[in-house]
Amino acid sequence: MSGYDVSALRAQFPILEQEVHGLPLVYLDNAATSQKPRAVLDVSRHYYEKLNSNIHRGTHYLAQEATAAHEKAREKIATHLNAGSPDEIIFTSGTTDGINLISSVLGYSGRIGKRDSIVISNLEHHSNTVPWQMLCERTGAELKVLPVHEDGTLELDVFHRYLDENPILIALTHISNAFGSVLPVRPLIQSAHEAGALVLIDGAQAVPHLSIDVQELDADFYVFSGHKAYAPTGIGVLYGKREHLEALPPWRGGGEMIKKVDYAGTTYNDLPFKYEAGTPNIEGALALGAALDFLNEIGLDDLHSHEASLIEHAATALSAIEGLKLYGPHDRAGALSFNIDGIHHYDLGTLLDQMGVAVRTGHHCCQPLMARFGITGTIRASFACFNDEGDVQRLADAVTKGARMLR
Ligand code: PMP
Repeated sequence: MSGYDVSALRAQFPILEQEVHGLPLVYLDNAATSQKPRAVLDVSRHYYEKLNSNIHRGTHYLAQEATAAHEKAREKIATHLNAGSPDEIIFTSGTTDGINLISSVLGYSGRIGKRDSIVISNLEHHSNTVPWQMLCERTGAELKVLPVHEDGTLELDVFHRYLDENPILIALTHISNAFGSVLPVRPLIQSAHEAGALVLIDGAQAVPHLSIDVQELDADFYVFSGHKAYAPTGIGVLYGKREHLEALPPWRGGGEMIKKVDYAGTTYNDLPFKYEAGTPNIEGALALGAALDFLNEIGLDDLHSHEASLIEHAATALSAIEGLKLYGPHDRAGALSFNIDGIHHYDLGTLLDQMGVAVRTGHHCCQPLMARFGITGTIRASFACFNDEGDVQRLADAVTKGARMLR
């Protein structure tokens, strides 16, 4: 941790060099999308300047180089997540895409019927809610929602009750994007498996902040988006255990996901290509590989300690402001979320922007969670490797000033 050089990290993000509304930018909206370091931008540029070509089946030099680089990126991701094999890494366009893939193919599999249930939690992002609702609408299965306590933690007694009813699948977030709270996914996965359920973990907010070991977690499926982890938009990952990905039917049909096409019937490709119909986001995959290298160079333990200390300081400074309520338990990673009595989150967010502080306001794509707390939204400050104590101070000062102006 002593080697953590936040100034050097900050210097790697060209976008942070600019001023916003005449003030140096304090970017605290990393949970929506992170900024991109030069190492990632360079890989994207290099791809289009030196490698651009469609991958697989190419006989020419560029096609072979691009294919090798794309598959190398897949290997990097497999190593980063400690997947059993690169074949278990499916490139998607993001978290939403990965969840829709699994919910769709589970539906196609014919395994789900009227007597089945799927469990999600009240903390889930709409993208880990609506695909399961749609699957339940199509199959007649029941969607059960794990409630949360006033402090934002899961009601575990209800979880165990739901498990007694043998759900087919549990879909849970690893870190709440609305509150920043970290869920105890390892024991939850273990209990779910004992009840015979599959588990999908939404790692959109976890991959940028925590070291992830899918084998240790024993998740059946783990999904995330590149763009929240220093990579570009339009690239994401679905990790799935080989046995499940092999047993489940294909999803989208098209090029690359086939072995042989015949009007009498098509045979599907092996993993991972079975789930990768069409030309993929090649540059995005390479850039995601570079983003994970960037994270590993910082070191996820050091990064986590740095961000945890910023969040703790921010929580302490903000708590001193009259009428300010923080949401979620103390065990946060990446983000913290709050409201101030009598002040609309949007109004305060707008003032913060005018003071050069970029945060997110609103429901954070978690409307049912907001409804649970009787609010329409919160103000969320979310952190990345380049944020420092100066950013925390600017946030606290801007919230104090903004609240004074709005009262
Ligand atoms: N799940 C969580 C927890 C998220 O934070 C987000 C993005 N806000 C998503 C899913 C959806 O990610 P994407 O829009 O990149 O598919």
